[in-house]
Amino acid sequence: MNASSTARMHRQPDISHANGPSGVTRLLPPAGTARWTDHQRHYGPVLPASASSLVDIVRSSGLRGRGGAGFPTATKIAAVAAAAGRLRRAIVIANCCEGDPTAKKDRVLIGRAPHLVIDGALVAAAAVGADRVMLAVHQGSRAGTILREALAERGAGAAAVSVVQVPNRFVASEASALVRFVSTGDARPLGRLAPVWESGVDGRPTLVDNAETLAQLALIARFGDHWFRSVGDQEEPGTALVTIGGAVPRPGVVEIATGTPIRTIMASAGAPTTGWALIGGLAGRWVDLAAVAQTRFTTAHLASAQAVRGVGSIIVLPPRSCILTETARMLGYLADSSARQCGPCMFGLPAIAADMASLASGDRMALTRLRRRLPTVDKRGACAHPDGAVALAASALNVLNGPESGHLQQHLAHHGCRATAPVVPLGVVDSTRHASR
Ligand code: SF4
Repeated sequence: MNASSTARMHRQPDISHANGPSGVTRLLPPAGTARWTDHQRHYGPVLPASASSLVDIVRSSGLRGRGGAGFPTATKIAAVAAAAGRLRRAIVIANCCEGDPTAKKDRVLIGRAPHLVIDGALVAAAAVGADRVMLAVHQGSRAGTILREALAERGAGAAAVSVVQVPNRFVASEASALVRFVSTGDARPLGRLAPVWESGVDGRPTLVDNAETLAQLALIARFGDHWFRSVGDQEEPGTALVTIGGAVPRPGVVEIATGTPIRTIMASAGAPTTGWALIGGLAGRWVDLAAVAQTRFTTAHLASAQAVRGVGSIIVLPPRSCILTETARMLGYLADSSARQCGPCMFGLPAIAADMASLASGDRMALTRLRRRLPTVDKRGACAHPDGAVALAASALNVLNGPESGHLQQHLAHHGCRATAPVVPLGVVDSTRHASR
């Protein structure tokens, strides 16, 4: 935070100065509003508020993180604020990496409204009393260029904000890996035992929030909790960005009211609700679209349908593609992407990936091995990376137990199937790079 804005933070909020955007187009403004002057004209200023009133507004807004875990944002902010003090100032990291290759929502957001993300990071900094804000991006990414240009437009108003380039690896954007990278240059996760909100970058309380979460925060600070809750599901209000890809006529990123049925989201991409889809990213779940068509897009409703919101992506498989082959490919990517610090990642993930590939080739014993192996890997790593891979593999077996069980039998009877071209987008893993210095 710059000194003048910090000094103003004691005043109570006045968030009735303007009406927020109506409808569900909140985060993705019209084209031509990405520059600083246009952004200010479109959204208006963020008025100063005290840290405690900001936490209260965010709490009553019901905002949950949009990066994957869906944790209540106010609880996270309050934990960092409580751990920070005059001698141990907090730090904010805006996670703009979007490490999951199935998601494009954060890069679309940053392209359309970079200043909304920066506004949100500054609001978060005010709420936790931080004196440093870092915008974490993947090395060489377009998001990094856009955010650097946006900061330059703001000049001294963003003096406390900098862009940090993180190795372009899946696990490097995990919260504790970001903290470790900023502190030491090593972008591997620290593990579950190190709560970053208490002891993060250089031992300081650190708030790590995803780009979309921070953009939502910027709007709540402007227009208030009532405005935020005026759209979407009552338990999980607001809007959300969803990436729709794979075999759909109109792939892309859409902003929806939370609680929108999956059938409606698919219709926005011109897609039917039949066949298989991956929901939530590489740590997500395979679903039978027909079975979840009426399911509302919230963390709780998706969980009750054995799906997961995760990174908010929906990737549809074309009719004759092979879910086992796709899953084996994804598991191989996750195994290659691991930081290889713990047994479950070093040995468990490659074995699960190999079993899934064998099953896709018609090896009956691979099914037995998978069912035995998955529970031995789950929750055994220092971070949640292997857990996501286990849940993904289990969901593939699960959907094949349903109405489409013939597909699995066909594999086992005919030694596999004719897999179509890969569908789920995966990056190239550079397994040598966990650090950049
Ligand atoms: S579980 Fe895997 S990704 Fe997580 S810290 Fe251990 S080796 Fe690294």
